[in-house]
Amino acid sequence: MTAEQRTPIALIVDDDAMMRLLIRQTLERSGFVCHEAGNGRDALKLMGTHSPDIVLLDVVMPELDGYGTCAELRRLPEASHVPVIMLTGLDDDDSIDRAYQAGATDFIGKPISWGVLGYRVRYVMRASRALRDVAKHQSSLETAQRIARLGGWEWDIPHNEHYWSAETYRILGLDPAQAHPSLEAFLQCVHEDERRSTRDAVMELVRCGEFAPRLIRIVQPGGGLRYVQLQALCSLDGAGTVTRLSGTIQDVTELQEAEQRIRHLACYDGATGLPNRQSFIEGLGKALGVARRHHRQLAIIALDLDQFKRVNDTLGHGVGNEVLLAAAQRLVATLRECDVISVSEQRLEGSEGAARLDGDEFSVLLTDLDHYHDAAKVAHRLLQELRKPFEAGGQEVFLTASIGMALYPLDGDDADSLMRNAGAAMHFAKEQGRDNYQFYSRAMNATALEKLSMESQLRKALERDEFLLHYQPKIDAATRRVVGVEALIRWQHPELGIVPPNQFIPLAEETGLIVPIGEWVLRSACEQNRAWQRARLPRTHIAVNISSPHFRQGLTASISEALRGSGLDPALLEVELTESILMQNVETTLATLHEIKEMGVRLAIDDFGTGYSSLSYLKRFPLDALKIDRSFVKDLPRDPEDAAITKAIIGMAHSLRLQVVAEGVESREQLAFLQQHGCDVLQGYLFSRPVSARQLAQMLGPERVAEAIWT
Ligand code: C2E
Ligand code: CA
Ligand code: CA
Repeated sequence: MTAEQRTPIALIVDDDAMMRLLIRQTLERSGFVCHEAGNGRDALKLMGTHSPDIVLLDVVMPELDGYGTCAELRRLPEASHVPVIMLTGLDDDDSIDRAYQAGATDFIGKPISWGVLGYRVRYVMRASRALRDVAKHQSSLETAQRIARLGGWEWDIPHNEHYWSAETYRILGLDPAQAHPSLEAFLQCVHEDERRSTRDAVMELVRCGEFAPRLIRIVQPGGGLRYVQLQALCSLDGAGTVTRLSGTIQDVTELQEAEQRIRHLACYDGATGLPNRQSFIEGLGKALGVARRHHRQLAIIALDLDQFKRVNDTLGHGVGNEVLLAAAQRLVATLRECDVISVSEQRLEGSEGAARLDGDEFSVLLTDLDHYHDAAKVAHRLLQELRKPFEAGGQEVFLTASIGMALYPLDGDDADSLMRNAGAAMHFAKEQGRDNYQFYSRAMNATALEKLSMESQLRKALERDEFLLHYQPKIDAATRRVVGVEALIRWQHPELGIVPPNQFIPLAEETGLIVPIGEWVLRSACEQNRAWQRARLPRTHIAVNISSPHFRQGLTASISEALRGSGLDPALLEVELTESILMQNVETTLATLHEIKEMGVRLAIDDFGTGYSSLSYLKRFPLDALKIDRSFVKDLPRDPEDAAITKAIIGMAHSLRLQVVAEGVESREQLAFLQQHGCDVLQGYLFSRPVSARQLAQMLGPERVAEAIWT
């Protein structure tokens, strides 16, 4: 039942009983239920018990008069909204004013016109109910707006009048009693970065009637920051002029903060709170833009904790994360404010625990770099800091890191290649034994490039006939004559000049080019010796060094081809094979050795003493000679250990009926020692460096070489 459907209750307050009766009869006829009070005090008591819908209140009463009663009645919570009609015979302005001030809703003058009293009372009730409904709506709207944090505002442009709702004041952090609403006052609350654009947008709305909702920041007088969504509309007059703006400001700070939290989760690493790799690359992109414009240098550091997996494996992931966090904090503390650091964790794909793997990599961006030395200083500091022990899980944990650095613009000019190059440098640092830093310098670039171009140049060297052989004589200790010659390859590089074999043989072996090169050496050596023989020089065998790939790939065919092509007596060819070649796959090695031996070619074991020859195999190999490695000869005769080894090798070789050759003989002392202990053949700078074919031919003349030394 609504208030309108219920039988209305009236309270009649008058000290005049007759008057009360008359009013009562009139109202009862109009459908009211009536209660009476003879004075103000009784009236106030009845308010609580009878809950009247309307009060008719005489002004002139003893004790508490109508004004006083009305004023007190308004203070009762249950009566504050009940309409009160004052009955007054005093129809001067002053008493009417007093009636309204006391909180009366309306007044009726005495004498009362009884015919309309019922209508009048009902009208007052309806009007006040309507007013109350409006107020109720207003307040529930305000409540709704407060809950939604939605403030309303209006601007009457021709009169320059502003209205702000209570919530608008609240959002702006202003006191409605003190602040005066105006566009200026509003703009003063807007964050200064957005003030100008906000003003422009509002003025645009006034001019063109268009406004795009915008997110702005409000700075409250206490310093509080609120994010606010600003909306506005305009009303036009008949002539199409904008006369009124109305709009809302909605406080979306919480929403904004939630979004920021989500963004944070997407952009930051959970364990360390540092930006992740993705956001680092974004930041790097921006920094590159700035550096490009201002011609600044940047350094990108890739820092990887060495063997971090071990920490996780031995102490558990909990402690691992703790250490990682502490390491991150230490790194941050070591850097300057303007440097950017991030972490990228490689996580185990598909595993729910998302375990950290080894290789937790930090990336650091150093901006504002004067010299790349500064980057080295930072790297040094970072390594130093990490070396200090960490406290985690109740014990000390030790960490080191490997750092790689790429510089902008030297090592790349986009984020991708810089990151990649820093990573490559970091891996290089790992290869160097960890706990160090490396630049992705041009030098590093150059090594890789050098290798590439070297390879293609090496391929062409054969066609271009850039190889040549030098020859080093081997002297018989007894006859003092040249009994053999070792062929040693050289590369006559068009730009680099003579390149020694140790600078290209490994690459030739790696690329397989050693096989055609080896074939060339064999052919050339055989032809040369054949030429010397034709020139009637003394019979000497020529020794050729053989590489492992060549030994495994058709060496016998190469040899027979070289012999057939040159027509050299096979007995004048010797192949030098290192211990490691011979020991690789003993059974096939043995077969190959026999094939070669059967051709009549001599076999020598080269660099003896450096590998791990098994004596029992050595016995089975059909060898002719054994060359003591230069490293043992070098410190003879002073080094007792080398002396002992050399003596033992000579003894052992002789017991196997092998000729013993000492290489690298540089001094007379060495010569004396070797002679004294029965070494058969000597080779080294003391007699001759490797020389050209023409120069060697001169030495082959009888006794020429050795004479000079022994006499
Ligand atoms: P290797 O077989 O031990 O050759 C001896 C090396 O010692 C030669 O270096 C030679 O010049 C050097 N040498 C000789 N006497 C002395 C001396 O008294 N003192 C010092 N310090 N060094 C001496 P080279 O010519 O630079 O050759 C280096 C290595 O390259 C050779 O070591 C050999 O393993 C390889 N090599 C040379 N030519 C060929 C080739 O045609 N084919 C293959 N596969 N490897 C070759
Ligand atoms: Ca050799
Ligand atoms: Ca050697």
